[in-house]
Amino acid sequence: MSYISFSTDDVLQGAKDSQDRSEKERVAGETNYLPKFKEGETVLRIVPPPAEWLEWFQAQGVRPTPFFPTWKHFFQSSGDGWVNLRCPSKIAGGVCPVCSESKRLYNAGDDNLGKKLRAKRIAYVNVIDRDNEELGPQVWEMSYPSGEWKGYTMYERVAGLMQGRAARNLIDPVAGFDLIVTRKGTGFKDTRYTVQADLEARPLGNDTQIQLFVEQQADLRTFVGASDEKWVNEQLKDEPWYTYREMDDEDEGYGYGDDPADNAAAELVVGDAENNGDDFNF
Ligand SMILES: [Zn+2]
Repeated sequence: MSYISFSTDDVLQGAKDSQDRSEKERVAGETNYLPKFKEGETVLRIVPPPAEWLEWFQAQGVRPTPFFPTWKHFFQSSGDGWVNLRCPSKIAGGVCPVCSESKRLYNAGDDNLGKKLRAKRIAYVNVIDRDNEELGPQVWEMSYPSGEWKGYTMYERVAGLMQGRAARNLIDPVAGFDLIVTRKGTGFKDTRYTVQADLEARPLGNDTQIQLFVEQQADLRTFVGASDEKWVNEQLKDEPWYTYREMDDEDEGYGYGDDPADNAAAELVVGDAENNGDDFNF
């Protein structure tokens, strides 16, 4: 009989190599999120999804778009961390303990906490920050209407720029326009965002750069599915699994905040950028 002969050192080294490899993959797979908006102007350019994703859109029964909406719960856990999950009920019609608890709180008259735990609708889109193009595509998490469209959310405002007489194409990588987000103020109540299309069209880059950005972007198809119910229960195993947190006086800086109803969304994403939209493990 022939077999591979090896020392136990080889075996141990092999295990270590594989650990190093998975660590490298983990780091490589980390999502590059757009940081909080600074005061003043931030110039962004939307990166269109690659042609390979067409089939996915068709399977979902939706028209292709660079915007990927989903439902998210985000709240402070009873420990030091934040719980961030995509609602199994709103997205997939499954069981969601967070929605149940939110409903229970509303029924018990605690609208404030009930609202904090409620799933909020947000959308992801890949963008290039024109002042930091070397960072490559970054994922921008924006507010998206949970119910009636009233024009307050960031998504509605961006989409609004692509409609009507003064419509600008913000998506075409060759003939499209950049997007300018202007932040005024830093306080929770006085922060305002203005969204405009740039005055002149400008390509995302040359052909090679466009191709590279399209390839480098985060795969947002994997950002929108419901969190696994088992995983959700695992996140909520400590009792109590949430804490009440007083609102910070600083606006969270992701482009929420102009609408009182939307402040609930802002409240849910108060925290540092690392905690916001951390999509690993689910
Ligand atoms: Zn839920």
